[in-house]
Amino acid sequence: MFTRILKFDVFNRSKLEFLNYIERLSKVNIVSGNPEILYSGLNDSRLLKSFTSENTIIIPDGLGTVLASKMVRSPVKEKIAGIEVMEALIEKCSREGKSIYLLGARQNILEDCIKNLINKYPDLNIAGSHNGYFDLDNCEDIIYDIDKSGAYILFVAMGAPRQDIFIADNMNRLPCTIYMGVGGSFDVFSGKIKRAPSWMIKLGLEWLYRVFKEPWRIKRLSSIPKFLLKVMLYNKKFS
Ligand code: UDP
Repeated sequence: MFTRILKFDVFNRSKLEFLNYIERLSKVNIVSGNPEILYSGLNDSRLLKSFTSENTIIIPDGLGTVLASKMVRSPVKEKIAGIEVMEALIEKCSREGKSIYLLGARQNILEDCIKNLINKYPDLNIAGSHNGYFDLDNCEDIIYDIDKSGAYILFVAMGAPRQDIFIADNMNRLPCTIYMGVGGSFDVFSGKIKRAPSWMIKLGLEWLYRVFKEPWRIKRLSSIPKFLLKVMLYNKKFS
């Protein structure tokens, strides 16, 4: 069910199987494992501990991770996009009367995101929300708010690795069942940013679309070859 890539176990079945699998878990951190985030996990002991903890499941969110799974000869069944898992979970919560807490993004984006989600899922219970601009070392009021909200899922949209640090530091003292870092997803739900056209998503070219729309992202792509090189060297050493 998992493919070992460097120090990480990456879920290797379909998105549907993933959604069924996490049903049984009492506490889980879902990490959208693109090469950038996994590479940062290799270089930060706090993140490494969180990404390799038994409460974390990494999904292969990115062509680079899919490629890495082929390089270690245990290919994942498909790329699982974090934003699609997020939407499936929201849909399920609205069906089952479970609540969510939205943490992240700028205040106006967060408000538009909430408005659009409620429009799309009128039965959705949003137990609380807070923007993503605060001091990570001084946010007891936010932790308290999440705690008392009783939310089943905490979505954290503060970009990597900030969102992952927040989850790593706080999930053990919060009562939510599912924790998920969702990057720029609130921007997408707010309508500010569009996802790539579906043909690009199918071809695994969503990253190209994002770089085209936000050229500053090009710098961040450098972690893809660095990550793949590490996978290749590791493979050579142990084959
Ligand atoms: N963000 C935030 N707090 C910060 C920095 C960023 O809430 O201190 C938000 C930002 O407003 C945006 C999201 O985090 O909504 C960043 O998304 P990005 O697309 O950069 O994340 P990625 O998926 O690339 O990691």
